[in-house]
Amino acid sequence: MSLETASSLDKDMLVGGEWVSADERTDVVHPYDGEHVGSIPMAGTEQVNEAIEAAARAQEASTLSAYERYELLMTTAEKLESRADEVARIITSEQGKPIGESKTEVDRAVQTLRLSAEEAKRMFGEYVPMDAQKGFAKDHCFTQREPLGVVAAITPFNFPLNLMVHKVGPALAAGNAVVGKPATNTPLSSIVLFECLDEATDLIGAPDGLVNVVTGSGSTVGDAILAHEAVEAISFTGSTAVGKYLADNSGMKELTLELGGNDPTIVWSDTDIEQAATQVVGGACSNAGQVCNSVERVLVHEDIEDELIDALVDAAASLTIGDPFDDETDIASMVDDDQFKTVVNLFEQTVEQGATVEYGGRYGSDLGERIFEPTVLSGVTPEMPAAKEETFGPLVPVIAVADFDEAIDEANNTEYGLEAGLFTQDIDRAKRAADAIDAGGVNINTVSGFRADHMPYGGFKDSGVGKEGIKYAVEHFSRTKLVGFHQG
Ligand code: NAD
Repeated sequence: MSLETASSLDKDMLVGGEWVSADERTDVVHPYDGEHVGSIPMAGTEQVNEAIEAAARAQEASTLSAYERYELLMTTAEKLESRADEVARIITSEQGKPIGESKTEVDRAVQTLRLSAEEAKRMFGEYVPMDAQKGFAKDHCFTQREPLGVVAAITPFNFPLNLMVHKVGPALAAGNAVVGKPATNTPLSSIVLFECLDEATDLIGAPDGLVNVVTGSGSTVGDAILAHEAVEAISFTGSTAVGKYLADNSGMKELTLELGGNDPTIVWSDTDIEQAATQVVGGACSNAGQVCNSVERVLVHEDIEDELIDALVDAAASLTIGDPFDDETDIASMVDDDQFKTVVNLFEQTVEQGATVEYGGRYGSDLGERIFEPTVLSGVTPEMPAAKEETFGPLVPVIAVADFDEAIDEANNTEYGLEAGLFTQDIDRAKRAADAIDAGGVNINTVSGFRADHMPYGGFKDSGVGKEGIKYAVEHFSRTKLVGFHQG
C-alpha cells in the first residue's frame, strides 16, 4: 500500500467543538492487503447524546444568515479541494476502490459542497393568493422555510466521502446542525470532511457543535439517534434491512432512506451494441460493483443476445485487475470478507442453477485478496440468485427477453426500485419505459448508474423514501411555515 498523508490516520470524533476519543477504538484496514490504515473511536451512547445535545444548542444559538451558510460551505469546499490528493488516497486505502475513482469521488464531493452552498441562498417561500377563496380577498399570506434543528447523517462504505457530503451540505445549507455517522470500515475520509467543516465554522464564527461526527457500532449510534428527542431528521444511506429498522423505530422524526437496488438495464435491438456493452460493463463493475445503482441485471432482446454477449466479453476483458493504487487498475478488492463472500455465493449458486460463464468467474487467491473478476453470465433466468438479489459485485447477468412488454415486466420483477437504464433509438419505446418502470429514475441511452449530484435521486419500493440531490435534500431538511395577515 502506498499511503502517504499529511495527517495521522488515528482519528477522533468531533463532539461540541472538541476532538475526542472513546474507551474503545477499532482499526481501519486496507482491503487489498489487510494492512493497518488507521483507527477510530467506538462511541458509547453517552457520547452520541453529547454530540446531539451540542448540536441542538448550537443550532438554537446560530444566527448564520443564508450568505454566511453559503460562505461556510464554500470555505469547506476550498479546504477539501486543497487536500484532494490526500483524501483520494485515504478513500482508496480504507475502501479499496481504484485511485482514479477515488479522485473522481473527491472532485464530486467538492462540487456537491459548492452546489449546497448555492442552495443556501434559495430557501424561498411563496406568496399565497388569498383572493382564490371567496371572502379572503383582503388577507395576505406567505410561507417561509425554516431549518428542522438537528439532522443525523448515517452513511455506507461505498462512497464514504460524497455520500456524507450529500447529507451534511444540504442540512447545513438549510440552517440545521448535524451529527454525522460514517460507516465503521470506511470512516476516515468523512472525518477529514469534518476537519474541514470544523475549520470553516471557526473562520465563519459559527457556534461550536454545529457540526459533529461520531464513529463506531451502527446499532449503538443508531439506537442513540433514534431514542433522542432532539434529532428531528435522520438521513440514512445503506442497506434495506437497516433502513427498515430505522423506519420502524423513528417515530415522528423526518426520514430520508436511500437503500439497496437491483437495477435493470435494457439493451434493445435498435441501439449501438458495442457502445451499450462498454457502458454496461463499466456500470456493473466500477468500484468492483459496489455501487447502489450499478447494473445488476441486463435485459436484452433475444435477437441480439449473442452479439451483445460478445461485446460484453470484449469490454470485460479490457478491464485491468490489480493494486488500487496503480493508475491502470480498473478492478480491485471488495471492501471486506463479508461483501466478497456474498458475491462468491451468489455467483456459485447461479452457475449451479445452469447459468453459463461467458467471461471471468475467477476470484480470490489467484487474483488477490477479496478480488472478484468481472464476470459475464448468460442463460440467466429471473429466479437465479444473481438476478434476484442485490449482488453488489462485478457480475453482469444477461437475461434474454422476447419482446418489450417482457423487458418491462422483468425490469419491475424485483422488490427494489432504485434506477433503471434503457438503450434504444426509439423515442416512443423510451417514453413507454419511462412511464412503466417502477423506479426512482429511468435513464435513456445510458445505464442505471447515471447520476449528477444535483439531480433528484432516490428509489421507490424497498429502495427507499424521499429524494437526495441538493435542492431536494434541502426541502427534506426544512419545514414550511405559514404567516397569515388578516384584515378585519
Ligand atoms: P449498512 O446498512 O450495513 O450500513 C450503512 C450505515 O448504517 C453504516 O454507517 C452502519 O454503521 C450503519 N448502521 C448499521 N446498523 C445500524 C443501525 N441499527 N442503526 C443505524 N445505523 C446502522 O450498509 P453498507 O453495507 O455500508 O452499504 C451497502 C448498502 O448500501 C447496499 O445495500 C447499497 O445498495 C446501499 N446503498 C444505497 C445507496 C442509495 O443511494 N440508494 C447508496 C449507496 C449504498
